[in-house]
Amino acid sequence: MLSDFDPAKLEAEVEAQNTSTTGLDCDYLVIGAGLLGLGFTDELLNLKPDTKIIIVDKHSQAGGHWNDDYAFVRLHAPSESYGVVSQRLENGLPPCHGDTKERANRDDILNYFGKVLETMIETGQVRAFFNCFVEPDTSMIRSCTSPKKTFQVSVRKKIVDGTFMKVEIPVLRPPPYLVSAGATVVPPNYLFTLETEFPAYYVLGAGKTAMDSILWLMSRGVPADLVHWIVPRDVYVINRTCHEMPDKDQKRLLEALWAEEWSTGKQGLNIYEKHSVVLRIFADHEPTSLKYAILSQTEIAELRNVQNVVRLGHVQKVGLDSITLQHGSIPMPVGALCIDCTACAFHSRKDRRPIFSDKRITLQCCVPSPLGSASVWSAMAATTAFVEAQPMTEDEKNILCTPIITNDDPELILAGLYLNDKKRQHWERLGIYEVWSKRMGARGWASWLDVEVDPSLKARAVAQSRQFVFARREQR
Ligand SMILES: Cc1cc2nc3c(=O)[nH]c(=O)nc-3n(C[C@H](O)[C@H](O)[C@H](O)COP(=O)(O)OP(=O)(O)OC[C@H]3O[C@@H](n4cnc5c(N)ncnc54)[C@H](O)[C@@H]3O)c2cc1C
Repeated sequence: MLSDFDPAKLEAEVEAQNTSTTGLDCDYLVIGAGLLGLGFTDELLNLKPDTKIIIVDKHSQAGGHWNDDYAFVRLHAPSESYGVVSQRLENGLPPCHGDTKERANRDDILNYFGKVLETMIETGQVRAFFNCFVEPDTSMIRSCTSPKKTFQVSVRKKIVDGTFMKVEIPVLRPPPYLVSAGATVVPPNYLFTLETEFPAYYVLGAGKTAMDSILWLMSRGVPADLVHWIVPRDVYVINRTCHEMPDKDQKRLLEALWAEEWSTGKQGLNIYEKHSVVLRIFADHEPTSLKYAILSQTEIAELRNVQNVVRLGHVQKVGLDSITLQHGSIPMPVGALCIDCTACAFHSRKDRRPIFSDKRITLQCCVPSPLGSASVWSAMAATTAFVEAQPMTEDEKNILCTPIITNDDPELILAGLYLNDKKRQHWERLGIYEVWSKRMGARGWASWLDVEVDPSLKARAVAQSRQFVFARREQR
């Protein structure tokens, strides 16, 4: 990995210059070398190649949470939906698990981010410091390995915080419930090295990590009847086919979807389900949550083989021979393996804050039209850089990029069309929507709002979504 972090070298630089600023100066100090930090840096350099940027990350290389994820993780959606604007992630690998397009695994993603960073450093505009962190609310870099070593960075323009979204994964935090001494609770990372057989396997959680863990166990020969799935709430998943279809099929899907009439959230969700945009895993259990896991129908069929599904709310305690949940407890064979998949990847931030301020950019979900797009995370980083590069006031930038509320209420998916259309109108008024959507579209990150569908049909669908949003507001 090409990076110029070397504490000894930096220290020598400090001494040689006999200055506390160490010669570390930049236009933007980017905190975090995950998708958000790198995606922002990439697009800013594409648009303003003279910009000097310093990137700092606690990890020893680029890639953010992918460095810590379980080894059998893959992107939810095709590789083409993920990454930075200037480099594609897909590299011609065959599809798997009933997919029709390639989906990168952890190593592919880490290699990709390594290459992205290398390209940035080769421009001479970017310096990256790993095994370091930026002290809260300062531009002071501290070494993780030698915490006494700090380096002040002089930032001419802004600090870019790529950590606010706080991606949470099980391996990096203790289980949020009690675990009795002697009970075996492990993060999914452990499964890759599994050598012993266990009398039973309890997968805790209903998100993509839990689904991946179950599929992994069964692909390694664990019989479905030994797998117990603790599902606090049934979830809708997004049908991966919607993200793999050629344009003409997507157009057909939208025409069919938007021709439908609905007024309540329940009806709307039924229609999304009827057209297989969202899918439920278990036919008899109506989902009350949507965590945006994207699955193929093959994967869903495999998950349906699990018969031991426990619906008693969240786990409170894993004992030696039982699990206590919110609404009851279940027996568990002594020696069973519990796989903790209860982290929620990213939190809905109630403390959202303006993305742009005088001296700071706080990267958050803000894309004007992400509906139907699996590329929200990729597009949000690039979009923020795109807006930062525009000659506008901070207030104008904040009107273009308002943080989107995210939570697991499935009905929110119905509000997206109206809310995004409203945002798009701001962008159009400022005359930059077309340029932006072309940039994103060229990367394959087009939104449903840009699919060429009969305008009157689209307008009707937006109006229906608007009605729903207003009805929900009145109910509150
Ligand atoms: C298992 C899993 C699978 C996912 N799959 C997909 C997918 O298929 N498609 C998709 O679009 N999204 C997916 N996501 C969502 C994912 O969170 C985003 O796609 C994206 O990778 C998040 O990038 P990030 O830069 O926000 O966060 P991170 O990857 O967490 O990067 C933040 C970085 O900031 C660093 N950092 C934190 N604090 C400091 C500090 N003070 N100083 C210096 N460095 C600091 C951390 O070390 C970390 O490297 C997935 C998430 C998870 C957990």
